[in-house]
Amino acid sequence: WRKENAEMNSTDIGIDLGTANIMISIRGKGVVFYEPAVVAYNKKTEDIMAVGTEAYKMIGKAPDYIAVIRPLCDGVISDYDMTETLVRECIRRVTGRQMLMPRIVMCVPSLITDVESRAVIEAARQAGAQKVYLIEEPVAALMGAGADISEARGRMVVDIGGGTTDIAVLSMNGIVAKNSVKLAGNKIDAAIIKYVQNKYRILIGERTAENAKITLANVFSPDGSREMDVKGRNLVTGLPARLKLNDDDIYKAIIDIADELVDAIKGVLEQTPPELAGDIHSGGIILTGGGALIGGLDKLIESETKIHTYAADDPLRCVARGTSLAFDRLDTLLDGFEKISLYGYSEI
Ligand code: ADP
Ligand code: MG
Repeated sequence: WRKENAEMNSTDIGIDLGTANIMISIRGKGVVFYEPAVVAYNKKTEDIMAVGTEAYKMIGKAPDYIAVIRPLCDGVISDYDMTETLVRECIRRVTGRQMLMPRIVMCVPSLITDVESRAVIEAARQAGAQKVYLIEEPVAALMGAGADISEARGRMVVDIGGGTTDIAVLSMNGIVAKNSVKLAGNKIDAAIIKYVQNKYRILIGERTAENAKITLANVFSPDGSREMDVKGRNLVTGLPARLKLNDDDIYKAIIDIADELVDAIKGVLEQTPPELAGDIHSGGIILTGGGALIGGLDKLIESETKIHTYAADDPLRCVARGTSLAFDRLDTLLDGFEKISLYGYSEI
């Protein structure tokens, strides 16, 4: 029992603290924890009621005295205490309570400030981590997608999450050009809610909008053939209502956002030195994150940039896989401070 526990407790873990999901991975085992980054708490007593999937189920269904929040949903931290609770509880769920000072490689949303990342690191420490390394999202995403990022070869990765999209060009372990924009899943869901409200005078919930996106989105060639029933509230009568949405509706609702995303990608391509741009032209653009699965987005980007574009295998888990893969290279990566910064790591 003791031996087994000691082994378990000294496991190094990788954490992808995303704006929508938090995932924990272990080297050799892959992603072992994958839940929405949501916390529910009692507003009066401030007691935590649920974290992760349990809390996600309460979105839009909890009474007034319960607050159900996504503390990172815009890519910035809206609530330090809740972010710390989220990180601490998720680590404890994976490692148990008496963890023996493991190392953690963590990826945090690119737009959060240094002060905010310190709060997250502090939470990881409280959960028992001895050392916490931060890894930049595009570096983790590409490693998790199976790319050898040490090659002298330009690669472009576009990670489309819940709150933010990170676009970057890497070569020889370093980031050559990048941009982060607040154009991702949440904004798309909000656009669907707004469209349905304006066109049908029906208010639908966040989770319904997300489902409609996942089921119907086609930003390249919608033909009205796919449809689904959704439920909401009629804004005129105030009564429960249902309606049919099809892929044309979703296209009209979200195409402007998809176009903006394409413009952001073009912007990063414009900043890319010519040799590396040539590499990207032959190697293609890799999409990771949940947004990589938006129907037709790969084709839209490809037709606009004239560069082959494809989703990585299991795109939602790329960054999480990358964080645990980083342990294999930690010794080299942390050889000297220069390398640390080159690789986009910082040791805390
Ligand atoms: P983050 O890293 O910010 O936590 P993720 O990479 O986990 O984000 O992706 C979450 C986003 O991906 C959510 O907005 C979710 O709605 C979206 N998503 C998940 N699956 C799909 C799908 N099949 N089609 C379109 N969007 C999806
Ligand atoms: Mg992510």
